[in-house]
Amino acid sequence: MLVFATETSCDETSICLMKDKKIVEHITFSQEIHKKHGGVVPELASRAHLEKIQIITNELFSKKIVEPNEIDAFAATCGPGLIGSLLVGSTFTKSLAISFNKPFIPINHLEGHILSTSFNNKIKFPNLILLLTGGHTQVYLMTNENEIELLGESIDDAIGEAFDKTAKLIGLPYPGGAEIERKAQEGDENKFLLPRPLIKEENFNFSFSGIKTHINLLTKKNKIDKTFIKDLSASFQKNITEILIQKLDKGLNRLNSHNIKVCSISVVGGVSNNIYIRNKLENFFSNKSIEVYYPLKEMMGDNASMIAWSCIKNYNKNKVDLLFKPKARMNVVL
Ligand code: ZN
Repeated sequence: MLVFATETSCDETSICLMKDKKIVEHITFSQEIHKKHGGVVPELASRAHLEKIQIITNELFSKKIVEPNEIDAFAATCGPGLIGSLLVGSTFTKSLAISFNKPFIPINHLEGHILSTSFNNKIKFPNLILLLTGGHTQVYLMTNENEIELLGESIDDAIGEAFDKTAKLIGLPYPGGAEIERKAQEGDENKFLLPRPLIKEENFNFSFSGIKTHINLLTKKNKIDKTFIKDLSASFQKNITEILIQKLDKGLNRLNSHNIKVCSISVVGGVSNNIYIRNKLENFFSNKSIEVYYPLKEMMGDNASMIAWSCIKNYNKNKVDLLFKPKARMNVVL
């Protein structure tokens, strides 16, 4: 099966051509325009998608790897995400589907992240999914290929958002995740004691917004110099990681008490790029004999290859619907 997919839910304009389980071509353009604003500006994001998507699609087809009429289906992210950005990508892709008289498949962005580890791993069930992105922090349980349940999520900021907001408070550029990880390498992770909201609750819910408020107070009390930035980055990264681990530990105990023995965990989304978090999670799960899966590097952030893969994996289950409308919020139903 040959699929052409697009992803435009936030600030990456991405397209992918996938044949069965092979990425034939994958182009992702990260919008630079948001850097000077310290975060994604929705209106600028939709305009930038509009300018770029046609250019990179022409670039892909000019390579003459395949002819557009050989494509079996056209897929696009239809939510959740920024509504203007979703409309650009989905309308563009839908137009291609109509002009080549092929089915249009709407894909849930979160489902794309969730299924990303099944592209390069043989998943052992029950599989816990830790979704760590700039827009979501969620824990799902997949008991088999077709059943998924949301066990918990952040009740306020997403984990990636917490990284970006912390970076902004201490004067680091957007996107903040990689910057904080870099600065943290030379900092004292025990320098600042930061709050750990909801840590005592035996569930998979998280809360990160209070940490940002606490850091804001620290920036008022301290001189923001190189040492402060490094120590705060290290303390923040350690705090966030320990929150994840302690909450996962409590949540797993609860699942065990219901006779659910998790065999593997998939760590997906852009924050799964963070090596410090990965190492700590791997240590924690290896002690429990739980396998840890990651997506391919190119499927970690927002990308069209996970959308193409989601389309191929669930093709027969998806409704072929040319009138499907993008939505800013969507629930995952596999
Ligand atoms: Zn995402």
